[in-house]
Amino acid sequence: MTRPELRISSDAFRANIAAVRDRIAPSTLMLVLKDDAYGHGLRWAVETAVQAGVAWFGSYDIRSGLQVRRIAGGEVRIFAWATSSDDEIDEALARDIDLGVGTIEYLRRVIARAAVLGARARVHLKIDTGLHRNGVLPEDWPAAVAEARAAEQRGHIELDGIWSHIAEASDAEDDEAQVAFLDAVRVAGESGAAPAFVHLTASAASWWRPELRGTVSRIGAFCYGIRSADGPELDGIRPVASLSALVEDIVDGDAVISIGSFDGLPSTLSGMPVGTPAGSRTLSTIGHTTSVVEAWPGMAVGDEVILFGAGDSGEVGATTLAERIGTVGEEILTRLSPRVRRIVLA
Ligand SMILES: *Cc1c(COP(=O)(O)O)cnc(C)c1O
Repeated sequence: MTRPELRISSDAFRANIAAVRDRIAPSTLMLVLKDDAYGHGLRWAVETAVQAGVAWFGSYDIRSGLQVRRIAGGEVRIFAWATSSDDEIDEALARDIDLGVGTIEYLRRVIARAAVLGARARVHLKIDTGLHRNGVLPEDWPAAVAEARAAEQRGHIELDGIWSHIAEASDAEDDEAQVAFLDAVRVAGESGAAPAFVHLTASAASWWRPELRGTVSRIGAFCYGIRSADGPELDGIRPVASLSALVEDIVDGDAVISIGSFDGLPSTLSGMPVGTPAGSRTLSTIGHTTSVVEAWPGMAVGDEVILFGAGDSGEVGATTLAERIGTVGEEILTRLSPRVRRIVLA
């Protein structure tokens, strides 16, 4: 059996990055890289983005932040926001990784490790603006800022950023979150130098809500060409990845292709349109290792079927598939198994 291929267009990625940067200027793009760059491959994403001049990377955890540092070299800023072990903090400090800090307990550990190592940690303090996913509660904020400032005075940290994460589900909720966020920024600014990096928004709010953007915007999905679930198509943004499988056999007049649920294709996607040499056809059954596509004129073993992509052969995008099963486009990509061969195109 041939292996399915995830084809990754560097051109599309560069064009998306350019479109995002144009759109959000003067806010600076922080390219988010979690889940192996949303299933596209961390090394490729970092190398391509560095060449395009991206200066900020968001790596989620310190382990992948260190990988980004090895790939990107010493010039770029890397932001890792997962609460981490002391050993990881030590490595982050040695490799100049900016730390997202969302609890006073973690803040104290970062300060303690910096003191032991004689390092100066770059800290971005996170305020909980309503998502309750890690973040200092508003009532604890002044105390957290005071501890951070005291550690700054002793030379152990620099309070370089204030940040939060928002749901991007409704404008009203996001507006409320921004009020809480700006209040936290104000409190931090009253206690010392205003932090240089203020960041609240991810793809959707960065694109659609300019008034919510900070000096930095943390963006993953749109750079990879993945639109929001239930969101519109975006000017200048196109899918970076397309998934293809070859016709292995013809059974009862239909095409059997070499991809199935074991490759990470959710079986609930049966009935969706896919791209064939003759245009759009229905993916009628998804088995474990193979799937069935309805016939097209002249179909032959070795023909290529596109499961998702930019639409050139009649296929839909990853988000359109995701909407069908109540998830988000990045989930379709990050579920793909290692049997799916990643092919990088120019
Ligand atoms: C995933 C993530 C982002 C990026 O979200 P997109 O919608 O993919 O742009 C930004 N910030 C945080 C904290 C995240 O976890």
